[in-house]
Amino acid sequence: MRPGGGLTRDPETRMRPTARLLRIVLCGAVFLLVGAARAQVAPAGDYHQHVFSTADVALLGPSSGIASLDADQVIALLDAAGIRRGVLLSIAYMFGSPARTVEDEYAKVRQENDWTAVQAARHPERLIAFCSFNPLKAYALIELERCAHRPGLDHGIKLHVGNSDVQLDDPDHVARLRQVFAAANARGMAIVIHLRANINKRRPYGAAQARIFLDQVLPAAPDVPVQVAHFAGSGPGYDDPAAQAAMGVLADAVANHDPHARNLWFDVASIVDRDISPATAALVAATIRQVGVGRVLYGSDAAQGGNLRPREAWAAFLRLPLAPAEFAHIAANVPPYFPEP
Ligand SMILES: [Zn+2]
Repeated sequence: MRPGGGLTRDPETRMRPTARLLRIVLCGAVFLLVGAARAQVAPAGDYHQHVFSTADVALLGPSSGIASLDADQVIALLDAAGIRRGVLLSIAYMFGSPARTVEDEYAKVRQENDWTAVQAARHPERLIAFCSFNPLKAYALIELERCAHRPGLDHGIKLHVGNSDVQLDDPDHVARLRQVFAAANARGMAIVIHLRANINKRRPYGAAQARIFLDQVLPAAPDVPVQVAHFAGSGPGYDDPAAQAAMGVLADAVANHDPHARNLWFDVASIVDRDISPATAALVAATIRQVGVGRVLYGSDAAQGGNLRPREAWAAFLRLPLAPAEFAHIAANVPPYFPEP
């Protein structure tokens, strides 16, 4: 109790007892309703997930801290979050990383894609797999074609610009990316792209590279969904000015009805941490509103190490300064590449 409590000037205590009680009850009811709405809203899908084979664990080595992770484990994590659908983005591209020399590289890429498809097929009502490869490799278009004809790998492709060290300032790389986009488009395969250029090698990245992607690469795939991973960043977190600048260009294009941006989607995988700063949270929220909640896909990325699991990542996401209806809209989104149940 405060000293001299009976003489306070606090307007709350000057209200008549019945009015005060009513106000407390109403405030409590609103709080409970908002809380219940938030608690009930679980995303329809986690559209950025990965599984890890024993081959991946061997490739990455013990120092990576990466453990094997199969579809049953991913399903358990989705269940804990109340999430039904999941997209397993193959990490076969890692076998083609220029940072590594891998014996029988293309055979291992095929095996990894096939293994990921087998994992998704363990839960055919809930999971789909995307095929992946380094787009600069000689086998890139061969693997795309193989995946297009293999049931379970024909939904789409995942490209990782950073891991494959694709450089959008290099016209040869852009030409190759256009070929891959055109081939995916011809086969009706969606594209998920981790657009962030290689960080370790400090490759140029920002507004200029996003502009090249928008004007020169995207026009090659006009008919299929293109999901830009991590809001054009890499996660975890989003305190990356280069990613913010790249995303700014793409968000402007969407807001200005640029026809090349018509089929763009954006996933939020691992960009909203528990300790996101208010400024970054405000930027993410403003960018979500700029592209529109209808283009934003929930994702949580690999359930490895300290990365937030689907349930915890959604709880962190719900702390963004957005309205309950906006969260509900994002939660309900299902991208067109996901098959009808
Ligand atoms: Zn990922």
